Order: sequence, then C-alpha cells, then structure tokens
Amino acid sequence: MYTNFQRHLLKELESIKDAGLYKGERIIESPQAAEIVLSTGQKVLNFCANNYLGLSNSKELISAAKSAIDTHGYGMSSVRFICGTTDLHKELEVKIAGFFGTEDTILYAAAFDANGGVFEPLLTSEDAIISDSLNHASIIDGVRLCKAKRYRYENADMEDLESRLAAAQEQRFRIIVTDGVFSMDGNVAPLDRILELAEKYSAMVMVDESHSAGVVGKTGRGVTELFGVKGKVEIITGTLGKAFGGAIGGFTTGKREIIDMLRQRSRPYLFSNSIPPMVAAAGIKMLDIMSESNILQDKLHKNTEYFITGMINLGFDIKPTQSAICAVMLYDAKLSQEFAARLLDEGIYVIGFYYPVVQKDQARIRVQLSAAHNREHLDRAIAAFQKIGKKLGII
Ligand SMILES: *Cc1c(COP(=O)(O)O)cnc(C)c1O
Repeated sequence: MYTNFQRHLLKELESIKDAGLYKGERIIESPQAAEIVLSTGQKVLNFCANNYLGLSNSKELISAAKSAIDTHGYGMSSVRFICGTTDLHKELEVKIAGFFGTEDTILYAAAFDANGGVFEPLLTSEDAIISDSLNHASIIDGVRLCKAKRYRYENADMEDLESRLAAAQEQRFRIIVTDGVFSMDGNVAPLDRILELAEKYSAMVMVDESHSAGVVGKTGRGVTELFGVKGKVEIITGTLGKAFGGAIGGFTTGKREIIDMLRQRSRPYLFSNSIPPMVAAAGIKMLDIMSESNILQDKLHKNTEYFITGMINLGFDIKPTQSAICAVMLYDAKLSQEFAARLLDEGIYVIGFYYPVVQKDQARIRVQLSAAHNREHLDRAIAAFQKIGKKLGII
C-alpha cells in the first residue's frame, strides 16, 4: 500500500517544487536576535523575525524562565483543568487582562489554538461570523470548526462589511472577526469604524492582536489602543510567540463570561497540554517590563520610521503601514526571490513573498523591524537595498 502512496506524495512534492513553492528551512545556530549566525557560518542581520521588541533573547526573560525551572520544574504533564494550572499560569492570565484592559484571560499552547478553539464553544448554526478576507489561517480554521453561518468581507473594506452585516441580521448573534495587523501589508484593521458598524448592526467584535500586541499603539497595547477603544471589544486573541518573548503560547482575553465558557468547552484548552511554567514566568516578566516603561515600543516605532523614510527616499515602493511590517513592493515573484537571495549575500536576511501567499503580481519583500536593531543595522539594510535595487534596475 505505502508504495503507491509514496509515489503519489513524491509526485505531489515534485509539483510543489516545479511551481517554485517548496519551502526549505534555513538553519540558525545562534539565539534569535538582530544579528544571527546561520549553519553556513554566515553572520546576517535578521529582518524577518517577529521579534518586534527584541525580547526573544532577553536576559531578564531568560533569567525569569530559569528561576521558574528551579521553583516549578520543567513541564506540567497535564492539561489545565486536571493538574496543569500553577500560580504562574493564573498570574500571567491576570496580567494579560490588565495589559489589554479586559476582564479575564485563558491561555493556550499557541494563538493557533486560541483561534481554533474560540468560535465553536460560543456560537451555533443560529449565529453569524463575519470575517475579514485576509484573516490568519488559524481564524479561518476556527471558523470552519463552528457551525455558525459564515460571511466574508474584503480586507478592511467597511462598505463590504456593512453589506455583510445587513445580510446577517436574521441570525441570533453576530461577531465581526479581524486581525489587528495584516501580516503581509502591515496595515491595521480600522477598528473605530468596525466598532461603529458593530453598534449599528448589533454585532460583537473579535480582534487577533498577534502582530499588533506590543507593537501598535503608543504603549504597545495593540489596535484597541491605537483607535482609543481599549476594553471595548468582546474578544482579543494573541500570541506569546511574537513581540511577547517569542517562545510559545497564545491567549484569548475579553469578557468574563466568554472566557469562563471557553474554559468549560474550548477543545484545544481541554485536550492539549498546559504551557510550561518557565514560559508563564517569562511572560509575567515581559508584561512587567512593558508596564514599567515604554522604551522598547519607542525604539521600535523610531526604527520603523527611520527605515521606511530611508527606503522611500531611495525611491522604493512601500505599502502604507501602521505596524513594524514594511512591504517593499516588487510585484514580480522571481524578482522578489532574486532580490532576497542577493540581500542575503549582503548579510541581510529577509523573505520574498509571492502568490499564493499574496495576490498574483503583488510579490514583495517583507521587512520586519525590531527594537533590537540599532542605527547601524538599519543603515546597513538600507544600503544593501540601495545596492541591489540599483543593480536590478528597480530604483
Ligand atoms: C502568528 C499568528 C498566529 C499564530 O500564533 P502562534 O502562537 O504561533 O500559534 C495567529 N494569528 C495571527 C494573526 C498571527 O499572526
């Protein structure tokens, strides 16, 4: 039997390769940081990590994690409701709610699980989910697992959202679901207008702050801070795997009864392991760092502005962004791969994205800025873009 299946897989893999869509993995032999060492021995500047605040290799987080290993051991060997809840898990949940101005929080092994487990326990076939067309894969999967009626609106298109909301008036409950920051363009969801429409058409709102928490808003509280609507959305999901230290873990935070129901019925919570105490401890430390000062957010915002201004001055076509994501538009898929490869030769690690990850003829290089970058890192990246951009006739 396997011989036939193997042949089938080999053929399929070959066609992925032929289409140029096969994903290899570059091996890193240093901690995640602004400057990393690849297995080839090459030292490169990293502009493609979600390490927005530079906390992935933070001494303070490492030390918090290490002491938690001493006090609480390595793993939990349990889901939360059996024997997988420590004081650290509870403290982190409270701190996350404090950070976002919400009522309660539930932790998951990943944001993928938070999104996968949020809809099915709350909504039934009587209800409606109205989802942005560019929402993260985990939201799409979560929606699929739920029997609610699905509506999809064009990315951040408020007219389209309004028409879907009007169409969904027959349903019992409605929820609008959106990413806070869309990861390919770096644009933010227009949350002020989404909330107006939610009010007008009697809908709840859920925001996934995975790319925006720690990043967007003056103090990094995400898009609810950016639009001055902190505490006004019913559900926020997010990850500990990006700005928040970058290890692992996700959460849903919001209205008390919603979180309580998720603890009773959310399948990835009930049937998947509790995060290790060291991750919870480092998460607590991370939120303490953020509530003490704004240094990291300020540095990230300055770095982003500096890089984008530099790139625009060189004549690059940059997508309007309100996050730490900068999409350098090249439009052509092959060109984006060539450009990224040549940048790596210059010691700048970025990724070129093209169809089907982005729309056809919308190929680009995505640059992710970090508070870990210093001025010299940014200047080196801009200079490399200038050199390759000139060579390839783009600027
Ligand atoms: C990264 C991301 C996730 C998944 O986060 P994990 O914790 O790595 O599972 C979910 N939603 C959005 C919008 C993301 O960007």
